[in-house]
Amino acid sequence: MPTNRTFTMIKPDAVSDGFSGPIIQQIEEAGFKIIALKKIKLSPEEAGKFYEVHKERPFYQSLCDYMSSNDIIPMVLEKENAMEDFRTLIGATNPANAAEGTIRQRFAKSIEANAIHGSDSDENAAIEAAFFFSEKELKN
Ligand code: UDP
Ligand code: MG
Repeated sequence: MPTNRTFTMIKPDAVSDGFSGPIIQQIEEAGFKIIALKKIKLSPEEAGKFYEVHKERPFYQSLCDYMSSNDIIPMVLEKENAMEDFRTLIGATNPANAAEGTIRQRFAKSIEANAIHGSDSDENAAIEAAFFFSEKELKN
């Protein structure tokens, strides 16, 4: 995947609260182009695989239960400096610390149910995109 791309998921709380529209609008208004998008519900096992890097952390089981509790909306986005600019757009992991106007500050409920995911490196963005989308879907 080119380095001007990143991967995101709108998380279960934000999807079920009806915030996917305003979140996608904020993403597009910030200059990101949607390359791929779907709505899907993960099994607890799939969520566990996605978050395997966190498996030793105390919040892992709860995170996997939460991430498989309802539909999510994974997306691949394109913009110059995508990964870093997207992390800035979503704000800090804990919405209590997220900057004013960021997606997490606006829409997140808690440090766990924090509305949206953003990849933390170009390498992980490519791995995470391939978890949800085929090569053909990423070809655009
Ligand atoms: N998380 C949590 N408790 C914590 C830290 C993280 O429940 O103390 C959840 C939260 O949903 C977060 C995800 O685990 O988005 C992955 O954590 P990470 O540290 O990678 O934060 P992110 O990169 O999403 O900001
Ligand atoms: Mg992370």
